[in-house]
Amino acid sequence: MLHMPHQPLQVAAVPPQRAPAREDQAGPWHSEAVCRRDEAGLFFAPSKEPTAARLSREEAAKQVCARCPVMVECREHALVQPEPYGVWGGLTAAERRVVLARRRRRDIELKAASQAGRIAAAG
Ligand code: SF4
Repeated sequence: MLHMPHQPLQVAAVPPQRAPAREDQAGPWHSEAVCRRDEAGLFFAPSKEPTAARLSREEAAKQVCARCPVMVECREHALVQPEPYGVWGGLTAAERRVVLARRRRRDIELKAASQAGRIAAAG
């Protein structure tokens, strides 16, 4: 039942439940994953997958994630790594890129606000 979530099939032949080294990196959350090693095809795109098939597959993968007790941990793992391929924590790779871009913007804004506050306090 361990889906120390997926390795992209087109990049590496190691499927979801992952190799022990990756499990160690991921932390204890993966032991509660509901996805299975043999479900890698659901979470990772085969080469030359048509758009309609991709959308359907990703939706099915997200439905698995939606009932997973470690979805938040999995998602954060995929964001922090970052994992470039596949559905992790209910997010596709494209969706994770959006989240990461938002986080970067937020960090920049917070840093700017902090610097402005220090300048105002010093002035
Ligand atoms: S959130 Fe999804 S990808 Fe992550 S462990 Fe659970 S079922 Fe697997």
